[in-house]
Amino acid sequence: MIKEFTSSSGDMTIKIDYDKCTGVGQCVEDCPVDVYELKDGKAVAPRVDDCIECCVCVESCPNGAIEHSSC
Ligand code: SF4
Ligand code: SF4
Repeated sequence: MIKEFTSSSGDMTIKIDYDKCTGVGQCVEDCPVDVYELKDGKAVAPRVDDCIECCVCVESCPNGAIEHSSC
């Protein structure tokens, strides 16, 4: 299942593939502006509006679970 998190302006979307996400929390740790958190063992992105489009999360996820519209 893929869950989408879209910014309030609608111009940025983060997609997390829950078939790949194992809840390791690397994205939570590495995102410089704390967009992510863990919920029930999976990553969620409740603060997409804070994203600075650095693409670190896409690169740091060991399972390739994150897709970012800007990266
Ligand atoms: S780094 Fe990847 S696998 Fe780990 S919690 Fe984040 S999205 Fe899930
Ligand atoms: S692109 Fe950068 S700022 Fe945006 S969610 Fe990923 S790590 Fe965080």
